[in-house]
Amino acid sequence: MHRILKWQTPCLLAAAGILSAVVLVGAAEAPQEQDLAETASQFSVRTAADLINYGADLDTAVEIAPNVYQARGTGNTQMVTTPEGNVIIDTGTSRHSERHRELLSAVSDGPIRYVVVTHAHNDHAGGVPTWTDAGTQVVAHARYPEAQRYLNELMPYQTNRNLILFFGQRPAPQGNVAERAAQAQTRVEPDILVNDLFEFELGGTRFEVIATPGAEGDDAVSVWLPDTRILFVGDTLGPIFPMWPNLYTLRGEKMRFAAEYIETLDRIIALEPEILVPSHFEPIEGAAEVRAGLQRIRDAVAYVHDAVVDGMNAGRNVHELMRDIQLPAHLELTEAHGKVSWVVRSIWEGYAGWFYLASTTELYPVPVSDMYSELAELSGGPDVLARRAAEHVRAGRPVEALHLVEVALAADADHRAALEARLGALEQLLERAAGVNFYEVRWLTHRIALTRQQLE
Ligand SMILES: [Zn+2]
Repeated sequence: MHRILKWQTPCLLAAAGILSAVVLVGAAEAPQEQDLAETASQFSVRTAADLINYGADLDTAVEIAPNVYQARGTGNTQMVTTPEGNVIIDTGTSRHSERHRELLSAVSDGPIRYVVVTHAHNDHAGGVPTWTDAGTQVVAHARYPEAQRYLNELMPYQTNRNLILFFGQRPAPQGNVAERAAQAQTRVEPDILVNDLFEFELGGTRFEVIATPGAEGDDAVSVWLPDTRILFVGDTLGPIFPMWPNLYTLRGEKMRFAAEYIETLDRIIALEPEILVPSHFEPIEGAAEVRAGLQRIRDAVAYVHDAVVDGMNAGRNVHELMRDIQLPAHLELTEAHGKVSWVVRSIWEGYAGWFYLASTTELYPVPVSDMYSELAELSGGPDVLARRAAEHVRAGRPVEALHLVEVALAADADHRAALEARLGALEQLLERAAGVNFYEVRWLTHRIALTRQQLE
């Protein structure tokens, strides 16, 4: 399929696309090692508006270390200055990039020799055109063009999911979404593609662009300054440090592989960084804290990965593993962004695909939901099902209740008692979610709002 790609233009829907790449739940400060168990309670849910305006109150770039500066926004822009010119690492969104260039140019207006884009999400790549002058070289992972292609081609699909998960809005009509998504498409053409490692020296500073795939996509790179032990990680560690990684996105991006991420973490740990600079929120300083956090993430992902593989080989099913595999206390991490049980399923499907051998029907395009109205009739109708669903809610079994509600609503989409049972079940799930996982909370909140509307 031929598709003409356009530069990203700012609009609300572009913001939805931009937000697909970022997290709206953030820590005000990086937790200390001993505080990790309490980490979840330190996070506050930020609205989309909070995120878009992040850093807007700052009139200057922030100095992170000598010759290293950061302009803050929805995505941050980093600049390393040298006597022979400057290097930019990530560029934030197109919406903030002019401002970022203004703030960083006030520090140094030397020529921009390199722009390193850590991955193909709009909140990192959106500002690239603002920074590319004659002679600027854009550096990205060798998989970047492919990541950009698939993200752009599937943008209408993802835009609707983002409307729900970031803004709590109902999906828009598909034609409308496609048109608006087309305006939000980004195109970056890297000059230098990095398979594994790209080293260069500029004005006496050594730079290493290192492939670090596995977390926020398989096209991720980080930038290492070996002389000052600063590592620019993009989204490789997410916006909260340390956190359980978002290896499965509800917004519907392609698989992210745990084994690849473990290799990336081993590589980062071996560097022994003293400062981590993510492209969202604040840097993390201190070799001991950095090391402890990295090791914990690495060991937690390896623990879950190995437990899934063992479970698959032992003949256990995916739902048992989703239920049973939990992080041991010494590896606990906040699940504000990713969720362990979803990653369990994702590891399984990443290795084995979707055929679970649980039913022959998996092989054919007739899902069980096609039989719901017949099942409703055979079971005595939606009244009976709704009554039983309400009993499940009262007994604290909200998911069981939702299964029955779906059968009942297949027979009568406006069935009041079934909708009331659905509302009760969703509210119970929301309470259990305890405000921890942003996407789970947004999804449940969205479904609750829809159910209330239907009941009115
Ligand atoms: Zn991001």
